[in-house]
Amino acid sequence: MAGTGGAAKGAAAARAVLEVRKPRGSRHRDVKGGTQRAAVLGAGDGLLTNLSLVLGVAGASSTDASTVRLAGVAGLLAGAFSMAAGELVSVRAQQEMVEREVAVEREELTQEPEAELRELIGMYRAQGLSPDDAGTVARILSKNPKIALDTHARLELGVDPEAPGAAGKAAIFSFVSFAIGAILPLFPWFFIQGTSAVVASVVIGALAALALGAMIGSYAGRSIWKTALRQLAVAAVAAAVTYGVGAALGTSTS
Ligand SMILES: [Zn+2]
Repeated sequence: MAGTGGAAKGAAAARAVLEVRKPRGSRHRDVKGGTQRAAVLGAGDGLLTNLSLVLGVAGASSTDASTVRLAGVAGLLAGAFSMAAGELVSVRAQQEMVEREVAVEREELTQEPEAELRELIGMYRAQGLSPDDAGTVARILSKNPKIALDTHARLELGVDPEAPGAAGKAAIFSFVSFAIGAILPLFPWFFIQGTSAVVASVVIGALAALALGAMIGSYAGRSIWKTALRQLAVAAVAAAVTYGVGAALGTSTS
């Protein structure tokens, strides 16, 4: 009888460990969704920046395709490098913060193992485990220093201490997504020029803005049409304003 009770208790404790560990899997899914969202937002930035730049320069000197191309390529590179550098700095800072917190946790675990064990029991109790089960789970996990650190890092800091450093990858990723968005309105100017190139940039810009807006809406779980039309409206205003300013400056300086 006592044996079955112990086994049932053990099973409940094991189940509780699995329950608590579940967020690990779902967090990875979130991170993946976050990556896609970041790509769409980066491409949207690139599109808006270069649509404005291309039309601004075209408004000032619409007959000269090489000027528009030069400005567009410069805008693409400047924006993409700036996005990548920003990503590099922020991911590095985030990593260093995690490393520092994990180091503090590692020190606490070696210097005050009893206090850390009580802390872990408290966290499992807060998750709804009985005092017995919380004690069992916490003692099992605390036996192995590596598992103990891993558990404390996840539960207390909400981080994976062995997550690979991905600063370089994130930087390249934002460079590419910005560049993809930025190349779209510039594309026609490699083949045509003048009014037809302006019209082509506007049409490509409008379609891309609609598509990106729809994707942003689907990630946010909102109405796809609403976000698509809003993105189109933002692009239209930016394009009209820069084209107007370009035309005004172009005629005033020439
Ligand atoms: Zn701790």
